[in-house]
Amino acid sequence: MIYYNISNPAEKADFRAATLEGQPRGGGLYFPSQIPKWEKEFVDSLPTLSKAEIGFRIMQPFVGESLTDAALFDIVEEVLAFEFPLRKIDAENWCLELYHGPTLAFKDLGARFLSRVMGEFAAAGGQKIIVLVATSGDTGGAVADAFHGVAGTEVVILYPSGKVSPVQEKQLTTHGGNIHALEVQGDFDDCQRLVKEAFKDEELKKGILLTSSNSINISRWLSQQIYYAIGMSQWREADKPVIAVPSGNFGNLCAGLVAKKSGLPVQHFIAACNANRVFTNYLESGQYLPVSSVSTISNAMDVGDPSNFTRIKELFKGREAELKENISSFSISDTLTRKTIRMAADELDYVIDPHTAVAYAAVEEWKTKNGKKPGIILGTAHPVKFPDVVEEEIQKKITPPEALFSIMQKVKYAELISPDYQILRDKIATLKK
Ligand SMILES: *Cc1c(COP(=O)(O)O)cnc(C)c1O
Repeated sequence: MIYYNISNPAEKADFRAATLEGQPRGGGLYFPSQIPKWEKEFVDSLPTLSKAEIGFRIMQPFVGESLTDAALFDIVEEVLAFEFPLRKIDAENWCLELYHGPTLAFKDLGARFLSRVMGEFAAAGGQKIIVLVATSGDTGGAVADAFHGVAGTEVVILYPSGKVSPVQEKQLTTHGGNIHALEVQGDFDDCQRLVKEAFKDEELKKGILLTSSNSINISRWLSQQIYYAIGMSQWREADKPVIAVPSGNFGNLCAGLVAKKSGLPVQHFIAACNANRVFTNYLESGQYLPVSSVSTISNAMDVGDPSNFTRIKELFKGREAELKENISSFSISDTLTRKTIRMAADELDYVIDPHTAVAYAAVEEWKTKNGKKPGIILGTAHPVKFPDVVEEEIQKKITPPEALFSIMQKVKYAELISPDYQILRDKIATLKK
């Protein structure tokens, strides 16, 4: 598969180069030159295939010659080593729980796929890969867990001191080994500024591969198609579902749209947003007007200028009507999000986190307008990751899963640094050796 830069289509890369680069040098986003068509036989046989077989069949055309089939199969098998249950929650809705991975959020799948692929490339290329991440919480944890122990890679994570939750901090700082946590005396913007400065530092980049691991990376973005197909492998209803996706940077939704184009049997997608409604506004007015983000209780979706918007546009280029047939969007307030968490616990005995609740409220709003249809909401995080809001609404303690209990016992190790680029630069320079 060849990928081109949406901002400069003459700039092309194969899967390996696009993954290692993350973002094209001069800016822009990589996009696949073709969307594969799934054979009917594959779609019909989903219920009988293993997770690894499903993952392999979906990713093989995107990976092409960059990995052997045997290497790709081993990677997906290892990456998918946890459950993705599709649970019926009320008369006409199901929740696809994507939060049973090591850091209890859907980002585990994409981060794990990316890490294994990079490990494979590091081994083949004999070059050390240094992954640099600024995080406001969730991404860093998934990336740290995914890359821990992957030979040939070093990960430097910058997070704002005192601004991530206790669980998130443990997930960032207790791995050791090739994972290096820098606790920055500043805010998330300071962390991001330091990372950007490093990517511009040509002298520093000599002799190493310095890369990022956000959903701009094609390996993280496209591998998210796999859980949509694993979800549909458990679907037994006659009608195709409407799928509601809690959305921030829109990597998750955009992966689902690619899968639908390939043949995933989905009726319609709902982009479930919080008060950050730039995409909702776009569908209403046809104008895309990015703004600064506002803070909400579903904070992993507090994005004012979603990085994957350009990819959604590219997927439906010149076919605006088709875009609207495929996607609706609703913006859900914090008040309704809280009410939905309470309702689900009281009436359905089902505890959901604020991001998942936004999707639940959105699918209900869609049905009010469009009539009853079977719906799937994507459960993007375990409720225990957001105890303050959830426990306040459901009025009881959430039992943490085993994995979380053990991480809370571990010792934090992070270097406290001032937001000074020279310090980050020195740190990266020592890892080069
Ligand atoms: C990152 C995140 C989202 C948003 O996903 P995008 O792919 O950026 O749209 C939603 N929910 C949770 C819990 C997240 O961590």
